[in-house]
Amino acid sequence: MTLRTSPTIARGRPFLAVLAVLALLGACNGNDDAPTTASPEATGPANGQDEPDEVTEPDEPEPTEEPEPAVDPAEVGANELGRIPVLMYHRILPDGGGDYDNTPEEFRDELRRLHEEGYVPITTAELVSGHIDVPAGTTPVVLTFDDSTREQFGLTEDGEVVPDTAVAIMEELAEELDGFEPAGSFYVLRSLFGSSEERGRELLAELHARGYEIGNHTADHDNLGQLDASGVQRALAEGVANITAAIPDAEVRTLSYPLGIRPDDPTLVAEGEHDGITYTHEAGLLVGSGPSPAPFDAEFDPLAIPRIRSQPDWTPGDEPDYSSGFWLAWFQDNPEQRYVSDGDSDTISFPEALADQLHPDLVDRARPY
Ligand SMILES: [Zn+2]
Repeated sequence: MTLRTSPTIARGRPFLAVLAVLALLGACNGNDDAPTTASPEATGPANGQDEPDEVTEPDEPEPTEEPEPAVDPAEVGANELGRIPVLMYHRILPDGGGDYDNTPEEFRDELRRLHEEGYVPITTAELVSGHIDVPAGTTPVVLTFDDSTREQFGLTEDGEVVPDTAVAIMEELAEELDGFEPAGSFYVLRSLFGSSEERGRELLAELHARGYEIGNHTADHDNLGQLDASGVQRALAEGVANITAAIPDAEVRTLSYPLGIRPDDPTLVAEGEHDGITYTHEAGLLVGSGPSPAPFDAEFDPLAIPRIRSQPDWTPGDEPDYSSGFWLAWFQDNPEQRYVSDGDSDTISFPEALADQLHPDLVDRARPY
């Protein structure tokens, strides 16, 4: 069941203006870090259309009673209009790679920290679904992995996940940490995990079978800002075809823009077709620069979701670098900005004072307190 909030609704609010100033990080992987200055759309309402999109109300089974949260939202400090970090990872390398990469130990430590601080991993598709199912009092965090590099996932000859890959580390921590469940979204290219075409497809199918989301990053890492309309449609359709070649029943629902660059005509992203291959994207991920608005926030634009570059070594007192280390500390200092779940994915709980922030189509699910 999918609730689609309008991809075109966007209102400027001060936070985004601040982000626009802060936004300064770009690039997509170690090989192609053409630093885009910031998420081009960080200021929000660039595409000024506001025709009402269809908003599908959640098809609840016979809603006879008003939904009630399972817990007292005030007691857990629920704020489902708060912000959600969407973290961006590239390679996990023993030497740490570049600014967009992490060592295995950094990645482990960051996941431990997220867990200790009450964050629960979800996928991008879950974020935009309108039903975020995490325990009361916790905050969702979206873990995203771009470029399908070998350091993200592989299998040994014995069928074990290759140690120190991103997937191995997440699955190890599931053993170590009470209540930690691996989840994340992989934005993959034609080149799959440093393997041959056939092996790469097997690995992709295995990753999908393990429950991770597989998303579009185009097959060839195309700069969508440099393509005409038919080129954009071709690139997006090829990205889908690349995935369905490995996983015929895959539903490719979300996109990570290569280099964080959107096409000149952003309306080409939500749905389209090329050469008989159709695509539909419910979400598009940018590069940089801060936490995402909640999907229930009127200013949430699902096709321009900001991400945070993982770089955990920022410590208070350092110059701001808008990395994960910076933003996790920022959430500690600004707890009222953080999305906190009421534990019920049907209701939307928040302090009454924030009521104006709620997307007007969602008032039926609202539980202000
Ligand atoms: Zn990339």
